[in-house]
Order: sequence, then structure tokens, then C-alpha cells
Amino acid sequence: MSEVVDVVVVGGGVIGLSVARALCLEGVDRVVVLEREAAVGLGSSSRANGGFRAQFTTRPNVEFSRWSIERFEELDRRSGLLSLRQVGYLLVTGTQDGERSLRAAFELQRSLGVATEWLAPDEVIARAPFLRPDGIRAGTFHARDGILDPHGLVQATRQDAVAAGAQILTRTPVRALSLGPDRLFEVRHEGGRLRARWVVNAAGADARRVAAMLGLEVPVTPYRRNLAFARDPAGERTPIPMCVDLDTGVLVRREPSGGYVIAYSDPNDPPSTDTTLDPAFLDAVAARIGNRFPFLSEVPIDPARCWAGLYPETPDHHAIVGECEEVPGFLQCVGFGGHGLMHSPAAGRAIAELVTAGRCTTFDLHPLRPSRFAEGDLVVETAVL
Ligand SMILES: Cc1cc2nc3c(=O)[nH]c(=O)nc-3n(C[C@H](O)[C@H](O)[C@H](O)COP(=O)(O)OP(=O)(O)OC[C@H]3O[C@@H](n4cnc5c(N)ncnc54)[C@H](O)[C@@H]3O)c2cc1C
Repeated sequence: MSEVVDVVVVGGGVIGLSVARALCLEGVDRVVVLEREAAVGLGSSSRANGGFRAQFTTRPNVEFSRWSIERFEELDRRSGLLSLRQVGYLLVTGTQDGERSLRAAFELQRSLGVATEWLAPDEVIARAPFLRPDGIRAGTFHARDGILDPHGLVQATRQDAVAAGAQILTRTPVRALSLGPDRLFEVRHEGGRLRARWVVNAAGADARRVAAMLGLEVPVTPYRRNLAFARDPAGERTPIPMCVDLDTGVLVRREPSGGYVIAYSDPNDPPSTDTTLDPAFLDAVAARIGNRFPFLSEVPIDPARCWAGLYPETPDHHAIVGECEEVPGFLQCVGFGGHGLMHSPAAGRAIAELVTAGRCTTFDLHPLRPSRFAEGDLVVETAVL
């Protein structure tokens, strides 16, 4: 007879680890994370840029961020592992439509208790004097947004989860899932099998495959996303905000040791599981960077320090968090796109409440429910970077 546990979490990325941590801290006894790779956090979590922001355009994303930022502050104080730098996110636009959208998002964030500031063009330049000032119409800034070390977050979350009692099995890919007549799941993995009262799908870019093991369709699609590193001959190290040119979609942050990390997500990229750097990305950045960051047009990109990974995306750019109606006990915690790091504490909390109390009271999970795609009832996040 195989061992019976309370919860099996499929996937040991930042989401699965956060779920395990939160479950154990809520008093769930037997929580087992099954991770395919030789170590946790080697999937998308290891490829992230490390940004976190409350500046979103929808209530669920703002609320997940606001709650998570407080947890990051606590976790960094306690563990010292996050390299938390609250340099703020500075969002800038030079178009009328951009200003209108920015204003709506600003008002939503303020209404939800986020202290986002509205900036006139001269205030934008005061915060980031290196930006091309021509045509700037407005900006927003939130001082508690910032950057953390993705590896540090994975390690701090893993440590907490293990200390709270979670068992983490690496090199343990889940091969098959089924639900028995006793309402226990049978989880077949590389090293054997387990039975579990609950199974949480936290398989990131592989979420669709894991859901398909139970005959379910979960619309999570991987997209390749790239980051470029530009050397800074001047060696500037003064912290700057994470700067976002909303008109081109280009993001720039400064590394503490000098140099710049540049991001751009082409909305027309096809789905992909390729994690090698896309050469077209560097051309796309070159075509756009001069709009607000002319000083970077001439700075050499260091190809050895560029990288790529996968965004596990959903059609409405919101995560899927909740129990599947078709298979009670099977919980989705997937589809975090480019926001998985920054939303991991909230994701863990939400799943822990669903398991221990049957409902989530910290967040309204209705907009994130798995059934929304079949119902055609989507709220779309537009601040996708
Ligand atoms: C270039 C880039 C930049 C990004 N920047 C940011 C950012 O600035 N801020 C931010 O918040 N987010 C960012 N992200 C997004 C973030 O990395 C993801 O949203 C997040 O890592 C998702 O975490 P996860 O745990 O769901 O997925 P993963 O980290 O991919 O973890 C899923 C795990 O499941 C395992 N797995 C899959 N199938 C199985 C199976 N059958 N059995 C066992 N294990 C399995 C995988 O091995 C993997 O370890 C970025 C992503 C990329 C690629």
C-alpha cells in the first residue's frame, strides 16, 4: 500500500515552494513537493528578472502584489537572503492613450491602498534624469516596488517550507495522476507512488501537461522571454528605479555591481519552449531602446550575460488559482506569466486557505478561478511587461 499524505505539490519552483511553505505554516501535516529536476527552482524561477511591483491594472493583480510585497519585506528581514532593493518602478508614457490607461491604473492602485505617485514630466525626469525627456506626458512611481534576487527568494522559501515540515523530493518527475474511488489521488512518480487527499498543480510551463494527466484542459502556454545585459563603461552604481517605457514595452534596471539589464516582451512572439536567447530579441531592443533610453543605444550588449526563459502565460494574463470543479481536490496554482516571483507569497496563502478552510478570505479568487475560460468571463491584465 503506498504512503498517504495530505497534499502533493507538483513542481518545486517558487510557486510550489511557496504553496508548501504556506500549507505547513497553516498546520497541514504531510506536504510533499515533487520536483522533476535535480534541485528546486531550476525552471522559470531561475530565469526571472527579479522585479516586483504593485503597479498593475486589475484588482486581483494589485492585491496579490500588495500583500506579497509586505511578505518580501518580512522575509528579507528574517532570512537576509532576498537582496531586496526597493528602488521603485517608474512607468512613463508619451502618448495620450498611454496617459489615460496609466491614470486609470493609478486610480485603481490608490483605491486599493497602494501609495502610487502621479508624476508630471519634470518629476519623471527628476527621478530618472537619463531618460529622453521629449514628449513625456506623465509617469507613475511606487516606492515599495523593486527588485529581489530570484535565487535568494527560492532558497528562503525552500528553507521556510522545510523548517515548517514540508518534504521536498527532487529528481522525482510526476508521471501519472488518477483519482481513486476512496477520493484519494494516486500520484505515480519516478521513484514510486503516493496517495494524497489534495494535489496542487504548480508545474509552471508544464502546467497543461500535468492537468492533462487528469483529463483536464488548463490554458497555460509557455512563451520565451529574454533579458539582455549592457555593460556600463562609466561604472555607475547609484540605484535607479526599474524604468518602464510603456510606449515601447522596454524595461531597464541597473545592477548593483554596475551595468543594465534590459527586458522587452514582444506580444507577437509565438508560443515556445526554447530557453536559448532569441537573436531577434536583441534587434527588437535595438529598435526601441532609443525612445527613452538613448544613453543605452551606444552601450555594448554582453552576449555572455544575456539569457532567456519561459513565461507560463494564460489568455488573460492572470494566474489560475483554485480547485477544479471537474476533479475536486485538484488545485491549480499556475499561469503566473511574468509575475510568478512577485505573486508567490500570495499564491501560497490562497492555496493554504483553500485547503484548510475550504475558501480563501485574504483574496477574492473569483477572477482567478479555473472555470473562467470555459465561461468566457475574463478580466484582462494589460500591464504585461
Ligand atoms: C526572462 C524572465 C523574466 C522574468 N521576470 C520576472 C520578474 O521580474 N518578476 C516576476 O515576478 N516574475 C518574473 N518572471 C516570471 C517568473 O519567473 C515565473 O512566473 C515563475 O518563476 C513561475 O514559477 P513556477 O513555480 O510556476 O514555475 P517554475 O519555476 O518553472 O517551476 C515549475 C517546476 O515544476 C517542475 N515540473 C514540471 N513538470 C513536472 C512534473 N511532471 N513533475 C515534477 N515536477 C515538474 C519543473 O521542473 C519546475 O521546476 C520572469 C520569467 C522569465 C522567463
